[in-house]
Amino acid sequence: MPLEEKKEDFVEDLSIVQKENRTEKQTPLPFELPDINTLLRKQGYALAGRHSAVKTCLWLRHAMNGQGYCYKSKFYGIQSHRCLQMTPTLMCNQRCLFCWRPTEIPVPTPDEWDSPKKIVEESIACQRKLITGFGGSQIAVKERWIESNEPNNVAISLSGEPTIYPHLPELIEEYKKMGFTVFLVTNGTNPEMLTRVFPSQLYMSLDAPDMETYLKICKPKSPSLWEKINESLSILGGKKSRTVIRTTLVKGKNMFRPESYAELIKKASPDFVEIKAYMHLGFSRLRLDRSSMPTHIEVLEFSKELAKYLGYEIADESEISRVVLLSKNGKIAKLDLNLN
Ligand code: SF4
Repeated sequence: MPLEEKKEDFVEDLSIVQKENRTEKQTPLPFELPDINTLLRKQGYALAGRHSAVKTCLWLRHAMNGQGYCYKSKFYGIQSHRCLQMTPTLMCNQRCLFCWRPTEIPVPTPDEWDSPKKIVEESIACQRKLITGFGGSQIAVKERWIESNEPNNVAISLSGEPTIYPHLPELIEEYKKMGFTVFLVTNGTNPEMLTRVFPSQLYMSLDAPDMETYLKICKPKSPSLWEKINESLSILGGKKSRTVIRTTLVKGKNMFRPESYAELIKKASPDFVEIKAYMHLGFSRLRLDRSSMPTHIEVLEFSKELAKYLGYEIADESEISRVVLLSKNGKIAKLDLNLN
């Protein structure tokens, strides 16, 4: 799932659609959806090669205009204006209710996969193209714009499940060769791939305390993916990369039984646990009400409970992003790049 939710609108007006689609079932949409490529272009994605995509996030734009950095900057030292957000595939094996991408639109399997080298080159070129406008902007901070042309962190997390791309380990190494730190976000359904990837920071989503909730909220292609997620949790425990378990809390759907989350998270023994609020954005508005968004206080309360069961401490929080960070000792150690 995406590292950072976007605040932009995805289709012109979803308010009528939202009213008509409040059930958990993915009811047919009352409008014609375009094909995936048309939709992506409309949403400001740049297609990098045949199946990868790049999109600048809201925080890159804020950083460029001197209006602050995203919570990952606060937590992990990422410079938002030098962060390249991309995915090597838009395909996904889950249809999470809270996902802001159009899970309603099928993404075709490419006839052939692009090479990691091509994806790296194309994604950097796309990023530079997407930020061109800031060069002539009166508001943008000039030095930041110059720096942003040399991205140094890649967040492989934009949309879709990156472990579906068969050459993901090589892609990560290719970015590292170019001097990037690599943040990878996975839904944990491909444990075999997890054993083969070595990003700087590895995020795995855990959005349910038990299988029943998982099936309801993540709508996986097969119920057996819950077993895969459990396998991945154990694999995470043995990784050298810095690891993060991330949970998106949706009120009334998965915001309960912190003790069960804790039991699962213990298997992974992650460096960090990120607890964040569902944000009512993009296509998720077709599936969930606005009231599904917990407040920051509610996220904090849940995080405290979870921390208690886990034996972790609160290391930081960002009220604007409604996210709380837990770590084993309440501190955030600097990213050790030698472990890459
Ligand atoms: S795992 Fe869920 S949130 Fe992530 S891309 Fe797939 S459907 Fe969206």
